[in-house]
Amino acid sequence: MRLVDSHGHLNADRFDADVELVVGAARLAGVARLMVPGWNERSSARALELVGRWPRLDAAVGVHPHDAAKVDADGWRRIEDWARDDRVLAIGETGLDSDRLFSPWPDQLDNLRRNLALALATGKPAILHCRSRAGERDAQDALVDELRAAGFDGAAAREAFEDRPPAVIHSFSGPVDYAETVVAMGLAVSFSGLVFRRGEEASAEAVTLVPRERLLVETDAPFLTPPGGPRGRNEPSAVAITARWVAAQRGLAEEEVGSALVEAYDVTFPRVHPR
Ligand SMILES: [Zn+2]
Repeated sequence: MRLVDSHGHLNADRFDADVELVVGAARLAGVARLMVPGWNERSSARALELVGRWPRLDAAVGVHPHDAAKVDADGWRRIEDWARDDRVLAIGETGLDSDRLFSPWPDQLDNLRRNLALALATGKPAILHCRSRAGERDAQDALVDELRAAGFDGAAAREAFEDRPPAVIHSFSGPVDYAETVVAMGLAVSFSGLVFRRGEEASAEAVTLVPRERLLVETDAPFLTPPGGPRGRNEPSAVAITARWVAAQRGLAEEEVGSALVEAYDVTFPRVHPR
C-alpha cells in the first residue's frame, strides 16, 4: 500500500538521534509523501533543514496555538520569508486550542489570523490544529468563524487557491456537523490516531463525509500513537494503521485507499517543481 503522512513532526527533538532510521522505516512502510510542519521559529527552520536532506519530504512553516504568545516579531518575519521557499508547501501548523491554554486565547486568535493571511498571500494551504475540552466544541466553532471572516469560504480563497483546498483540518476532532461545515467550505480533512480514542467516536462518521480528493491521513508523530503502533514515540511508518481504519469505514480495499491518499496529498500540497 502506498501511503502518505500529511503531518509528521520529524523536526521534533525526539527524532534528532535517529531521524535517518525513521525516514528509512517510513519508506519501507510505503510512505510516499511526508509533510513536516513547524510549530514555532526553531521547528520551522528544522523542517527546512530536513527537506534539504531528503527531497521526498515536504515542509510547512508557521506558529501553533500553544506557541502563539512566544513567537516575537522577528521570529514571525523569518517564518514569512521561509513561507516563500519552494520546498514549503503549506503554512502551519496553526489553529486554536481551548483544551490546553498554553497561550492566552486572544494571542491564539491574533496568531491564527496572521497565519491565515500568510496562507492566502502565498497560495499555500493552512494546516489547522483545533481542540476543545472533551465534549466541548467552542474551539471548532471559533475556528469556523475565523475562517469565514478571513474569506476561506469565498472569493479570497478562490482567488488564492482556485479549486484547491485552502486549508487542512489536521488530526480531526469534533462533532459530525463540524465536519460537514468544513467539507462544505472546501477544506481537506486529515485523520490521525486520535480517531481510536474515547470521545472521538464522531470521526467514524466524519471520515465518510470527506470527498476522496480531500481526504488525508497522518500520524502527528511523535504524538497520538494508534493502537498497535510503536510504543512510546509515534512514527510515520505507523500511518498504515489509520489508513486501514479509513478503508474499513469507507468500505474500500486498502490499495484503493492508498492511491486515493497519494492523489489527495498532491492536490492539496502541489509542488512548484513536480516530483
Ligand atoms: Zn502537529
